[in-house]
Amino acid sequence: MIRLGLLGWPLAHSLSPKLQNAALSAVGLEGEYKLYPVDPAQPEKLAEFVNKIRAGELIGLNVTIPYKQSVIPYMDVLTPAASRIGAVNAIYLREGRIVGHNTDAFGFETDLQNKSGKILNEPGTALVLGAGGSARAVISTLLEFSWKVTIAARNVNQARLLRQSLAQEKYADNLDCILLDLEDLRHFINNLRLIVNATPVGMFPQNNYSPWPETLPFPSGAFVYDLVYNPNKTLLVKQTEAAGLSGANGLGMLVEQASQGFEIWTGRPAPRDVMYSSVAGSIN
Ligand code: NAP
Repeated sequence: MIRLGLLGWPLAHSLSPKLQNAALSAVGLEGEYKLYPVDPAQPEKLAEFVNKIRAGELIGLNVTIPYKQSVIPYMDVLTPAASRIGAVNAIYLREGRIVGHNTDAFGFETDLQNKSGKILNEPGTALVLGAGGSARAVISTLLEFSWKVTIAARNVNQARLLRQSLAQEKYADNLDCILLDLEDLRHFINNLRLIVNATPVGMFPQNNYSPWPETLPFPSGAFVYDLVYNPNKTLLVKQTEAAGLSGANGLGMLVEQASQGFEIWTGRPAPRDVMYSSVAGSIN
């Protein structure tokens, strides 16, 4: 019996059980993926769950907000991805050691490459909107591929802190920070080849909002990747299409990051098509 689950708070809207339970049954494995809400007033529960993996009661866990960083002290070892990103979203046991991994960078890289015709292989200048947890995975991936990155955040100090904490990264000198507003963006859009939204702006039910100012033209030829996947067509994706540009929402990233977790925990290839179909009906 493969017992898996998700630690976080709140968890009610998570699509992970649908993705993982559909995958388990599609490959004929007996198992279950359950939600394990951990009240922020009882963070000691994190250790209890990690010990269940050590004891073999659970095969693996995903971790989401607000524990992606606070779970790190309970890990015996971090994978290079988790250590680079500074956050753990997948846990498993290998050779008696608790391993903390991060699948977001893999999900972003794989889906962006699939949707954009491998844009990452031809480094250029990218703009990342937002400076939170997912921005970190995105930026760290872009730096790995030698891109120059400007972080645009409504709180520019948050962007500066993020830049500082990535200072050890390869090519960290390629990072810049600006305020996420019309005037600052206007000066940075020339020559941009990639725009990534790593803010929740536009996420259901805020469908009529976009992080991209309405009056600002998009740089010609840029690819626009929106990490938001619900609604399926975010206002940013609609703006992109209206400007004649190519882009994608974050559903593929969600499925790819879940697929990597599934493959680590079960040792089986993830049935990606089944996983897509399992969540398609839950998206507005
Ligand atoms: P996070 O850690 O909370 O970071 C969000 C960032 O967006 C912060 O910099 C935040 O700034 C900024 N922000 C929030 N509201 C804003 C607004 N109204 N205007 C401008 N900036 C705003 O969240 P996250 O984990 O990075 O997630 C961000 C989005 O990506 C969410 O919608 C999430 O669902 C999505 N996501 C998708 C995938 C996928 O697989 N497709 C994976 C991870 C995340 P403040 O700190 O000032 O609030």
